[in-house]
Amino acid sequence: MDVREGFTRLYGTTPEGVWAAPGRVNLIGEYTDFNEGFVMPFALPHQALAAVSRRTDGVLRLHSADIGGPVVELRVEDLAPPADTGWAAYPAGVVWALREAGHPVTGADLHLSSTVPTGAGLSSSAALEVVTALALNDLYGLGLTRPGLARLAQRAENDFVGVPCGVMDQMASACATEGHALHLDCRDLSLRQIPFDPGAQGVKLLVVDTRVKHALGDGAYAERRAGCEEGARQLGVTHLRDLAHEDLPAALGRLTSERVRRYVRHVVSDDHRVERVAALLDAGDVRAVGPLLTEGHLSLRDDLRISCPELDLVVDTANARGALGARMTGGGFGGSAIVLAKAAHADTLTEDLEKAFAAAGFPAPRVFPAHPSRGAHRVS
Ligand code: ADP
Ligand code: MG
Repeated sequence: MDVREGFTRLYGTTPEGVWAAPGRVNLIGEYTDFNEGFVMPFALPHQALAAVSRRTDGVLRLHSADIGGPVVELRVEDLAPPADTGWAAYPAGVVWALREAGHPVTGADLHLSSTVPTGAGLSSSAALEVVTALALNDLYGLGLTRPGLARLAQRAENDFVGVPCGVMDQMASACATEGHALHLDCRDLSLRQIPFDPGAQGVKLLVVDTRVKHALGDGAYAERRAGCEEGARQLGVTHLRDLAHEDLPAALGRLTSERVRRYVRHVVSDDHRVERVAALLDAGDVRAVGPLLTEGHLSLRDDLRISCPELDLVVDTANARGALGARMTGGGFGGSAIVLAKAAHADTLTEDLEKAFAAAGFPAPRVFPAHPSRGAHRVS
């Protein structure tokens, strides 16, 4: 049943419209967003769809076809963090954030369904937030920009759901365009669409979902974040973004903690890798991006220390079997990796990865090619 029919069956009327917002993978630039640095995500073909109608009586009704169960019914004026409404906290948090920002959202009926794998580091949560934000923006005529919607969605996740994420995921979902990677400056949210069409260049970008859930990384994320802030403080900058790559050796020499030194080295070198990947894509040299992905992985594994055996196995196997490069992507401790490979080689590589996981006694990974897809939009 499609999401429009699902809405009608639940609520007894046709929805005013249907909206879509995708999940994302990050090509390069990890743990750089909260350091006000650079990232380069692109949108997946997997997306959340939401059928939505306005209400004027202050009632918010939420339902997910993927979760099932009864409709969650809330009153918009009662919305306040901390949320204890499970999955519904994501769309409810968006309504809360819109109202906090002074937008007159007086209720809604929402029914959604998503093909973004959850908890795989592919931002099913941002897809949910952004599809809700865009639908309400259109229906209530709020006139918010895409970056403005992304900021509100991030606020919902940070302050209502209680997850301290950066703004990359929401920006990717809200602003990506097909056939492009999104070069994003997380300081001012200025962005540039960089042509990135692996298929047209005889390569494939494989996403490898290890099926290891990344929830255990929660405390570790906050710890890395605090370590980065500590590094910036010791070096006298507001954010690590303000350190130039050529000044990195001198800066590292001024840090007393080995742990903080590793974090700073990761962030500053990954910011630099984003710029190098951007230059390669601008020059049309997609294949040369591969080694930079692998370099990024080693930095995440050895300096930030957020990899795990399954992610390392993907990268090691892919590179041993002739991939152009590979790295973990997202928050770490599980979730997904990406592999850049010659198109003709992608199928055997997929088999090699499945065999390596079986030999290591790990559950089979889910491997799929990802074409850079369209960002959030109205469907009907
Ligand atoms: P990720 O964003 O990497 O997929 P998160 O833990 O940030 O992982 O977000 C996953 C959560 O988002 C789920 O536990 C659920 O609460 C919510 N979610 C994602 N997709 C859906 C969906 N289709 N229906 C309901 N809730 C969803
Ligand atoms: Mg998420």
